[in-house]
Amino acid sequence: MDIILLGPPGAGKGTQAARLQSSRGMVHLSTGDMLREAVAKGTPVGLKAKAVMEAGELVSDAIVSALIGERLDSAGGGAIFDGFPRTQHQAEALEMLLADRDRTLDHVIELMVDEEALVERIVGRFSCAKCGANYHDRFHKPKIEGICDVCGAHEFKRRPDDNEATVRTRMAEYRAKTAPILPFYEDKGLVRRVDGMAGVDEVAAAIDAILDK
Ligand code: ADP
Ligand code: ADP
Ligand code: ZN
Repeated sequence: MDIILLGPPGAGKGTQAARLQSSRGMVHLSTGDMLREAVAKGTPVGLKAKAVMEAGELVSDAIVSALIGERLDSAGGGAIFDGFPRTQHQAEALEMLLADRDRTLDHVIELMVDEEALVERIVGRFSCAKCGANYHDRFHKPKIEGICDVCGAHEFKRRPDDNEATVRTRMAEYRAKTAPILPFYEDKGLVRRVDGMAGVDEVAAAIDAILDK
């Protein structure tokens, strides 16, 4: 099964994708994570992407589509696309990448959220520096302060683009370029809507209900 999680920054895509990866053995493909890895390693892609990401704008379709193409075969048992596609061009590129492998999308799950609440989610977001587990200052603190629940590490990090000004640009990009791809998937009968303002477990249950239908 191949699915897309669609929603603005902070909607909960990464949180839900990580859960599906561990509960169902699907592979979480996040172009944001791939780009941050490229930036950290200083690869040619990373050098191109760094300033664009820090400004909250979109990296080129060619770069992100190539990153997905490189990883798709490693997700042969099912992929969860998180943060991709973000434009009509990317949606079309994904159709071709999947068709080349005799695969098609099963669901496009839209996480419906309130924009103002997202700013709070984003500016409070942090993650474990060692294993990447996701946390939030208010909504999802480690059980013991300063220690990762998953791996026990003591170091955490915050994304440079998780500040209010950049979030506003990222939301504007979502509204202008990503939300308009929904009709493309509506026409294919693939869009399922989930209330992303509910708690993490409720959102997870709603997604499970869709996947188990
Ligand atoms: P979030 O999940 O908070 O929306 P991501 O981690 O998905 O953020 O993306 C972080 C940044 O990486 C984006 O603001 C953008 O600059 C870049 N990026 C990630 N995925 C894509 C994509 N599919 N197309 C273009 N740019 C992307
Ligand atoms: P995205 O990948 O869509 O940008 P994340 O999954 O990283 O979003 O979530 C953004 C922040 O909000 C994280 O700190 C996460 O812990 C928190 N979060 C995720 N889902 C929920 C939820 N349903 N309710 C409250 N906080 C949430
Ligand atoms: Zn950890």
